[in-house]
Amino acid sequence: MIYLDNAATTPLDGEVLTEMLPYLKENYGNSSSQHALGRKSAHALLCARDGVAKILGCKSEEVYFTSGGTECANWAVKGVCAAHGKGHLIVSAIEHPSVIESAKEMQKLGFDTTFILPDKDGVIQPEAVEKVIRTDTVFCAVMHANNETGVIQPVEKIGGLCRGHGIFYFCDCVQTAGLMPLPVKFCDALSVSAHKFYGPCGIGAMYIKEGAKIQRLVSGGRQERSQRGGTVNVAAAAGLAKAFEAAVKGAGENGKRTAALRDSFVKRVLAEIPDTKMNGGGEKLPSHANISFGGCDGENLLFLLDLAGVAVSTGSACSAGAVTPSHVLTAMGLSERQAKSAVRFTFGKYNTEQEVEETLKILKECVSKIRGLNK
Ligand code: PLP
Repeated sequence: MIYLDNAATTPLDGEVLTEMLPYLKENYGNSSSQHALGRKSAHALLCARDGVAKILGCKSEEVYFTSGGTECANWAVKGVCAAHGKGHLIVSAIEHPSVIESAKEMQKLGFDTTFILPDKDGVIQPEAVEKVIRTDTVFCAVMHANNETGVIQPVEKIGGLCRGHGIFYFCDCVQTAGLMPLPVKFCDALSVSAHKFYGPCGIGAMYIKEGAKIQRLVSGGRQERSQRGGTVNVAAAAGLAKAFEAAVKGAGENGKRTAALRDSFVKRVLAEIPDTKMNGGGEKLPSHANISFGGCDGENLLFLLDLAGVAVSTGSACSAGAVTPSHVLTAMGLSERQAKSAVRFTFGKYNTEQEVEETLKILKECVSKIRGLNK
C-alpha cells in the first residue's frame, strides 16, 4: 500500500515504541502514587514534560498533557470562555472542527463569535483579524498551518495583534509540530498531537502561558497541577516527548526530502492530467498537496485509489448520508463542485520516488475511468 495520508496520522516509529514499552509493562505505576513504582512513572512524566518544554522553549510548568489536539482545542475555547463568563470570540473559518464546533457551542451560551474568511490562497490576513477586534474580544484562534491545504498562516503577526489588545491567542500547531519551529512567544496557548509526528495516538500536549486567564476543561484529581484531571498516560507522554524530539532533529532533512517528492508529484499531476488545479497558495508545509480534478468526484477518486492500494483523503464530511464539501475549500471561495472534486495527498518521511511514480500511473487511470463514466 502507498500511504499518502500522513496529515491524518503517521505510523509509530520503532524508537518511540521502545521508549514507551517499559511503562506499558514493568513500570506500570500510577504517576500519582507515592510508592516506588509510582515514583518511577512520575519521574518519566517529569522527563517527558521537560523534554517538550525544552523543544518549545518554555517552562516545564507551562506544558500539560492531554488526550490530543481535539481536547486541547476544546480546552482553549471553552476554558477561556469559562474564565471570562462573557465576551466576543474571533475564530478563523478554516480551523479544525475541534475549534469550530467548540466555538459554536460557546455561541449557543451567548458568546458572540466572528468567523473570519481566508483569502483565495487560504491565508487568514492579519488585517482581517484586526478589523473585527472589539473592546469585549476575549479570544482568538488562528491555526499555524491548515490541515487540508498545508497553507502556513501569519500567526506571529496575528499573535502580536492579540497581545497588543490583551486577547487570549490560541494557535493549533497540530500540523506543524515537528516540521517547523512553533510560535510559542506569540501565543497564550498552543497544541500539538503525537500521532502526527510518528508518535502514539491519543496523546497531545498543550502549552499554556504562565498566568493566562483560562479555566480547566477536565475536572477531577490533582493531575497536571490540578488543571487536567485523570490518570496520566505515562507511556504515551514518554512516546510523545521522544517522537517530538526525533521529529525536530530530523525536520531539516526530512522536510527537504518530503518537499522534493511532493513538488515533483504536483508538477507532474498538473502537467500530465488535464483540468487539475492546486488548492491553496503561498507558503506551505512540505507535506501537503490538495488538488481538484475537474469532472471527478473526490470521494469516488479516493475509493478507486484505495482499491488500487493508494491511501489519500478528501476534506469532505459525510453526515446523514450526504457528502458536504470541505469547509476550508468553500471558505477559500471554491464552488461546491470544485471543493468536492478535491483530493488531499500528504507525504511523509517514509515515502519514496518510486511511490510517486506508481501513484501517478494509478491516478491517471482512476481519473480517466471516472471522467469516462461521467461523459
Ligand atoms: N487540529 C488539526 C489541525 C488537526 O489536523 C487535527 C487532526 O487531524 C486535530 C486538531 C485533532 O487532533 P487529534 O487527532 O489529536 O485529536
